[in-house]
Amino acid sequence: AWQQVPLAPPDSIFKLTTAYKADPFPQKVNVGVGAYRDDHNKPWILPVVKKVTAILLNDPTLDHEYLPITGLPEFISAAAKLILGSDSPALSEARVASVQTISGTGANHLGALFLSRYYPWNGQPVVRLSNPTWANHYAIFKNVGIAPNDYPYYHPVTIGLDYDGFLGALRDAVPRSVFLLHACAHNPTGVDPTEEQWAAIADVMLEKGHYAFFDCAYQGFASGDLDRDAFAVRYFVGRKVPLLVCQSFAKNAGLYGERVGALHVISSTTEEATRVRSQLSVLQRSEISNPPSHGARLVSLILNNPDLFEEWKRDIKTMAHRIISIRQELYDLLTQELKTPGNWDHIINQIGMFSFTGINPTQSQALVDKAHIYLTANGRISMAGLNSKNIRYFAENLDKAVRG
Ligand code: PMP
Repeated sequence: AWQQVPLAPPDSIFKLTTAYKADPFPQKVNVGVGAYRDDHNKPWILPVVKKVTAILLNDPTLDHEYLPITGLPEFISAAAKLILGSDSPALSEARVASVQTISGTGANHLGALFLSRYYPWNGQPVVRLSNPTWANHYAIFKNVGIAPNDYPYYHPVTIGLDYDGFLGALRDAVPRSVFLLHACAHNPTGVDPTEEQWAAIADVMLEKGHYAFFDCAYQGFASGDLDRDAFAVRYFVGRKVPLLVCQSFAKNAGLYGERVGALHVISSTTEEATRVRSQLSVLQRSEISNPPSHGARLVSLILNNPDLFEEWKRDIKTMAHRIISIRQELYDLLTQELKTPGNWDHIINQIGMFSFTGINPTQSQALVDKAHIYLTANGRISMAGLNSKNIRYFAENLDKAVRG
């Protein structure tokens, strides 16, 4: 039956990891990876996660029954408070419809599916995506019949935000356009708007009646501070920009494979939120029936217990601060020791796991071919792949690639 099925190319990031694994070179470096690694280049199980795993194992009241369609109630409510803030007007006014999802990807999918069915489109369904963005955004929206269309975001000359281009696109877009915004730690650039820039973005969105589709995959992981990384979302909620938020616990709790996430749709009234929740529930039923319980239980314990919550915040700081200090170390090596040509300020100005180095595809390929340093062609590196043992090797080879 499948003679007509064409062979799909492998996912570029996973392909990179396969090539890295197969490479016998002892000093090889993987900076393509999108997951945290500790200073020994090992995945890190957060100590607080180890602790709550043991608590769950020894809890005689737990079983493997289905969760409700919208997820574990105490997880969803705590997750909503975490992103929106416990004093959020949207929460106190009961205007939030929250659903547990298959991590951030599932939240993006369910949000996109919901919009495809119910958003009052001004013409054909279109989502505006930052150029560049997480590659999966394209596929997720196309899958539900929403056409992706870029907006300017990254400026290759300044290696920073194309603020004028971005604002111009917001102004020129047809009213009620849907803009996907990265809540913090923009993937793949590591370039975020400042608080003042967010305010101006919100002004235009309100003026034009645009909808903000927030993707928040790195709360806490970016700056080490859960509240600071939630600034944009909370600010937009305060300004009453119509919005939804996709939330992932993959990075900030190191629960990649457990698929813990949530979708929060903010409405203007409780009654509207009730209707939205009912339809999200109908969509969820046909997609996955019920979300998985284990990861949601882990996160729920952490969020709902003040001591565990404090411990989690310390673990988050451990990860975020290692990444921030690696940025500084790389910056110092390039600017002070190696005197690598060009400006490298963006290495310390960008935020989160990823950094756009500004090197071109030829230079990226040279790093792979000559130095066994694995990165994507767009010059994005994951800071998590660098550590005290390989950073000098990496910096020296980046220097060589830049000098040509
Ligand atoms: N959105 C963005 C911008 C991401 O970077 C990621 C992780 N790579 C996700 C969503 C979703 O990840 P997950 O499904 O593992 O939560």
